Amino acid sequence: MRQRGWKELDVILVNGDAYIDHPSFGVPLLARWLEGHGFRVGIIAQPDWRSKEPFMALGRPRLFFGVSAGAMDSMVSHYTPARKLRHDDAYTPGNRHGARPNRATMVYTSRLKEAFKDVPVVIGGIEASLRRFAHYDFWENKVRRSILFDAKADLLVYGMGERAILEVAERMRDGAAIGEIRDVRGTAYSCSGFDNGSQVTIPSYEEVSASKEKFAEAFRTVFLQQNPWSARIVVQQHGNRVLVCNPPTFPLTEGEMDSVYALPFEKSPHPSYVENIPAWEQIKTSVTSHRGCFGGCAFCAITMHQGKTIQSRSKSSILAEISAMTRKSWFRGTVSDIGGPTANMFGLGCRNIEAMKKCQRESCIFPDICPNLRTADTPATSLLQAVRSLDGVRHTAVSSGVRYDLLERQPAYFSELVGHHVSGLLKIAPEHLVDRVTDFMRKPGRKAFETFLARFRAENDRLGKRQYIVPYLISGHPGCTLGDMFELALILKKMGMKVEQVQDFTPTPGTIATCMFYSGIDPMTGKRVYTATSDREKGLQKSLLLWHLPAERSKVLEALKELGREEDSGLLFSGGSGRDLDTAVHRRKTATKKAR
Ligand code: SF4
Repeated sequence: MRQRGWKELDVILVNGDAYIDHPSFGVPLLARWLEGHGFRVGIIAQPDWRSKEPFMALGRPRLFFGVSAGAMDSMVSHYTPARKLRHDDAYTPGNRHGARPNRATMVYTSRLKEAFKDVPVVIGGIEASLRRFAHYDFWENKVRRSILFDAKADLLVYGMGERAILEVAERMRDGAAIGEIRDVRGTAYSCSGFDNGSQVTIPSYEEVSASKEKFAEAFRTVFLQQNPWSARIVVQQHGNRVLVCNPPTFPLTEGEMDSVYALPFEKSPHPSYVENIPAWEQIKTSVTSHRGCFGGCAFCAITMHQGKTIQSRSKSSILAEISAMTRKSWFRGTVSDIGGPTANMFGLGCRNIEAMKKCQRESCIFPDICPNLRTADTPATSLLQAVRSLDGVRHTAVSSGVRYDLLERQPAYFSELVGHHVSGLLKIAPEHLVDRVTDFMRKPGRKAFETFLARFRAENDRLGKRQYIVPYLISGHPGCTLGDMFELALILKKMGMKVEQVQDFTPTPGTIATCMFYSGIDPMTGKRVYTATSDREKGLQKSLLLWHLPAERSKVLEALKELGREEDSGLLFSGGSGRDLDTAVHRRKTATKKAR
């Protein structure tokens, strides 16, 4: 501030993560974005929340404070799926735990209000975004109010914040008080009553706390209001106050995306840090090509945060970023990733604009690929080829996930990927392979995975390469029984695959699967869903996929005993023949059918 001759700042952003000036991190990105529009912005990163003084380090902002818990929900960041405290934090120097409090959005807002009672506080980021309505909190095992009420903030920005925060800042610069800003897309606020004649009213906080049916109904209604072209204002009563949530912001155009990524980021952590920050080490050689995902996986909150529309950068913008990266002293010739939430969705979208504006499908590719979806792989393929030929780039990997059902329509991208961009191991996320479970997950089932695996192996044979698939799998997902996990273990064994890591399902705010976990209802179909909720059953489910690890053996036997299938343990432990395994799977399917 001294160097720039600034006596005060317009906006101060408080962040639960370390300050890394790179567009992969939301707070630094919004700071550069506001700065690019003429605002003076400061960042207070990971302040000590035990007193108000660290929050006063940059003085009183002229317009408002912005608060984010960081790139992750603070509870997800702090606890394992078994609710045990984590000991590390990838967003903190030295990978140290404890640099931010639990429920950081609430704690930071409270300290700011203590320090500057009359300065408006705008909350945003993943934590605020996905907790914008009354929601289930796994860590307290109860329904909590909208975070706007618990944090006592003045305004909440949800989703990708560029448009919303800029509009709020401009209106305040033009003299509006925060309480007068009521119609900005991508924001929510509270008031004593609201009726504009066209709003959608969902069951109140009190109703969703008392009734799981009402909870599922509220979730479904909100989910169907995520299409920015057709969404209406959603209202939810909390006691004698009303939460008013404006429709989502419109996606950024390619030109706007390019302008965001062309902002003058330092592309490095703040120079005051002396220790490594794992999140920085992981992303410093990676490049974001797009945002959004139209996959609609039930356990993922992207639809409720980034949205279903793919927002891609231009090829020239991406190439310019990589060229600049090659001139950095730390660059060693490898681009570690070019992607987004799903790498092979770059440049894709809906070809029928009128249908898109009214569309209420959860996914453009589940249960089948929508005929309106453009699936051409030319943009993604030509991007990878262009990056490969850049001066200074020796190797380019694609480490972001790819949707293998979509790859069936993308033969050129598939060949490019397998031939040049897999570093020995390709991470693929089938998440499960029993169709009954993948239907709940909104993922392609076993057949699609088998087709992909066969193609992958054949392509590697053709190229003379030895590359392997690392399957990502989830245990304990709503709809998944112990029997389903045993079936999955047998399927994987038959495919010749062992997994070293299994993700135990975590009910994070804002997902369809979390709604299923809490309510026992699939909110989109109304079907009842079985869910493993006890730590014991979740542990047994997980162990079945890790059957080959000696430490898991007793749990595997316990799981088989519970299933009444102890005699089948040999199928896992003694390397039964393909035929034996097939029979077991078949027998299990028949039994399940009969039971149903
Ligand atoms: S119409 Fe089809 S392609 Fe278009 S947004 Fe809807 S599901 Fe996706």
